[in-house]
This record gives sequence, structure tokens and C-alpha cells, in this order.
Amino acid sequence: MGDNLQETKDLSGRLIVTTKDNPQSQKFPALISLANDQFRCQRCQMVNCQSTYSITSQLFYCPECLVLGRLTNQDYLIAYPEQNDFIVPPHPLTWTGTLTPKQHAISCQLCQVQMNKQEHLVWAVTGSGKTEMLFAMLAQAIRQGERIALTAPRVDVCNELYPRIKAAFRTTGVSLLHGQGANHYYYSQILICTVHQLLKFRAAFDLLILDECDSYPYVNNPLLHQAVQQAVKKRHTLIYLSATPSPEYQQQIAQGQLNYSLLNRRFHGHDLPEPQFRLIWRQRFNCLNKQLLHSITTLYQKQQRFLLFVDSIKQAEFISQLLHQELPNLQQTFVHAKDPLRGQKVQAFRDNQWQALVTTTILERGVTFFNIDVMVWQADSRRFNAQTLIQIAGRAGRSAEHSDNQVIFFAKQYTLAIDQAIRQIRRLNQDE
Ligand SMILES: [Zn+2]
Repeated sequence: MGDNLQETKDLSGRLIVTTKDNPQSQKFPALISLANDQFRCQRCQMVNCQSTYSITSQLFYCPECLVLGRLTNQDYLIAYPEQNDFIVPPHPLTWTGTLTPKQHAISCQLCQVQMNKQEHLVWAVTGSGKTEMLFAMLAQAIRQGERIALTAPRVDVCNELYPRIKAAFRTTGVSLLHGQGANHYYYSQILICTVHQLLKFRAAFDLLILDECDSYPYVNNPLLHQAVQQAVKKRHTLIYLSATPSPEYQQQIAQGQLNYSLLNRRFHGHDLPEPQFRLIWRQRFNCLNKQLLHSITTLYQKQQRFLLFVDSIKQAEFISQLLHQELPNLQQTFVHAKDPLRGQKVQAFRDNQWQALVTTTILERGVTFFNIDVMVWQADSRRFNAQTLIQIAGRAGRSAEHSDNQVIFFAKQYTLAIDQAIRQIRRLNQDE
């Protein structure tokens, strides 16, 4: 009996895959055929071509949401209504820290947004403490018995949020769900998950917070946008968080379609480091550029730790190798997304075992190191758009004692992206 009860609870708000034999009346076909050999998937709403994705003459599957398990035209779905069956603690917030006056002002705004069930963007510069600003709103929603999802496009952001949210709301159920190991789903008032996982829910959440809404893979991805829209209830609050809103969000803001709050000060109150631009004169094949080498040698002698961003895995390996020849005593290595030792190398850098890391954009966001200078080699590469450059620059100056870390962009030309990035950082520093 107890188990059954728990089982029903676990289904609350879920979209479950089932078979034809299941007698439940509310089941509906997973894929529906449309005209012209097309079909629509009812889990992700994407439309595809039947013959392209056929297994046998009778059987076809949806390629879009394959990551959640293969869904064929023989499968059925059941959407279980959300029960909001939670034991609500009287004082859910167990965090005892304090907010800066600016954070406090935004925190109050967010409580209002939650009351009115609106959509809202929080534009908070890197290192400004945006998570803490959510706490009052989360506590308010918990007291009202709402179901909450905290989501992000990337697994590491979820993993980082999970312990912080659990510590801030000790008496509230918090579960973590993503495709890389964290699959111990249970029915909890707060769910932390990747945006992909939202496809397993239907009209479940009263409050949904989407962290890093400008980042890959969410940005320009209709599947994931759909996942968000399906996971929330009809009447809902939706909060977008970003340090670098994409041009689409900025346009919506400018046209008055989206309300937003701006936190342009880091928690320590100092300016964001403004990037310097260095024009590269000559770039010879197979040797390290003299200007870059000069800058690195200066940092090496000062024992200043730094990150050097490059635009590809090949470049990362190559430059690290050249640096090893030029400055054999500099403790440095390279790291990129396909590097099996990626986690260990980042930790070793954090632990001061390396003075420098040559990295691709994988360290562009989500990581905090203290007292780090930042350089971008070939900042005019198409891989670096304005948002990426702002995020990269945001790795510097994270602590109050070292808020003035240097950021240098090396490039053969002053691109629009470089110009936009520098201007936006300047503007954020000027705004009061
Ligand atoms: Zn699908």
C-alpha cells in the first residue's frame, strides 16, 4: 500500500512511455502520422519524415528525443497530472547569508514576479552571486506548495547547483536528474535537471528557473525550447538567468516583450576587468608569436597564474607544446572537451599545481578560479562571439583582493565581436 502510494506520487507531473496493452484510458499514441510521409512526436513535438526514420516497413521512431530512449509508433504516452503533494515546511530557507543592497532589490522584484506568475530575465554579470538572489523567491514558492524546477543546459551547472540548493533548503526535498549518472529520481518539491530531462514532464512545474539560458545547447534549439514550454503549468513563473543574454533576449527586452533585472556589480562591488586589445603583427607558422610569448614571459616572471584561451583543440595542444619548448620551467598544460583528464587537470590548476592552462572554450563559463589573468589568442576567430568573449573575460577578477586581473585579446583584426564585448563590459561598469 505504502509502495503504491509512493509510486503514484512518483508519476505526478510525469510523461510516461507505455504499451498498447496498458488498459489506461488516458494513454495516447507517441507518434502520430501526418500527411506527406511526415509524423509528429508527442513527446517533443518535432516533425520528421517517416521513411527516413523507419526500422521496418511498419515501424518508425523519433530521432529528436532519442537521448531519452527510442520512441516508436508502437509506443504510447500517459501524462499524469501534477498533484503538488508536498509537506510544506514553515521556514523553508535555512541559508543565513546576507545579500548586497543590489542583490536584495532584485530578490524583492523576483518575489513579485512569482506572485504575478510572469516571465522575467535576470541579467547578472559573472561572479555577482545570482543563485543567492533566487532564495527568497524559492522560499515563497515552497511555502505556497508550488513545484519548482531549476534547470540548465549543461550537466556541470546542475551538479554545481545541487549541493548549494540542498544546503539552502534543508527541510525541502531536492532531487537531481540528468543523463550522466544522476538518475535517482524521486518526487520532490525542487527538481534540478538538464533542460533535456524536462521532456519527461508535462504541466508539472509552477516555477521554472532556466540558468545560462544563452548557452549551448539550449540556444537556437527548438526541441529544448519546447521542453520548457511543456514542462510548466499553464499558469507559471519562468525565470531566465544569464550573464550574457543573446541578441534575441536583448531584442525582446528592447521591445518591451520581456521584463528584466540587471545586476552589473560583482558581489565584491568592483568593476569587471576591461579587456585590452593587442594587434598581432606577424604570425609565423610553427613558432610562438613574439608578442604572445612576451606577455606570457612577463606573467611567468611575476608568477601570475593565467588561462590562455584558443579556438580549437589542435591549437591548444600546439601552443602548449611550443610553450614547453620556449619556457620549459613554466608549469603549464592544455585542456579541452575531449580530454579524458579534463576534470583532473582543472582540479590540479585549482590546487595551484599548474601556473597556466591553455584551454578551448570549455572553460568559458561555469568555473571559478581566484586571481587569474586571462588571454585570448586569435580573439578574431569566428569561434569567439561577443557573448563568449564576455564570459571568458569574466573568469578574471573574481576575488575582491584581485579584482583588477588583466584580460588581453590578441587578434589580427578588431572584429565586431571584440568591439561589442569590450563595449558591453564598459557599459556594465559605467551603469550605477
Ligand atoms: Zn520526439
